Amino acid sequence: MKDKLLLHVCCAPCSMYVINQLLAKFDLTVYFFNPNVWPEEEYLKRLAEIKNFCNSRKMNYLEFDYQPTDWFKFIKGYETEPEKGFRCDLCFLYRLSKTAEYAKANNFDWFSTTLTMGRQKQSFKILETGRKVENKFKIKFWDQDFKKEFGTQISDWLAKQMKLYKQDYCGCLFSMKG
Ligand code: SF4
Repeated sequence: MKDKLLLHVCCAPCSMYVINQLLAKFDLTVYFFNPNVWPEEEYLKRLAEIKNFCNSRKMNYLEFDYQPTDWFKFIKGYETEPEKGFRCDLCFLYRLSKTAEYAKANNFDWFSTTLTMGRQKQSFKILETGRKVENKFKIKFWDQDFKKEFGTQISDWLAKQMKLYKQDYCGCLFSMKG
């Protein structure tokens, strides 16, 4: 029997490649936990794409109502940080902590995230955060940098083939253009 892994996903284009990589190794459950995304309409669009994909592959997924308030509280004081700054470090910490907490409470063996796929994201920071969270919640973190070995390029190609919705900003209010 395969180990159970809870995979935090940020959006469909980043997730397909990661899911394809992990499916052979793990019994996967997809976890769409992204209260950072603004506004709600955008959140629902990203969620809908993930759900379509999971349904088409008959995969388990977990979704949540849109609840951005606690995320805004968590990053308070760092709203004006540039992308890749401390606001993003907190954003990774928030989402990965919630993922690990859920995984631990629900008898998963591992947790991981698609966040390293983002072009603008520094993978080492995400992996560092994942390892800290692993220690705190005592659940194993699958620390693969999915950008490597042409992960981003393959994922872009897959997203185009499937005509997936691809956002033009990271997600939060402060990363929106103009
Ligand atoms: S830019 Fe992206 S990673 Fe950084 S805080 Fe906003 S949503 Fe989170």
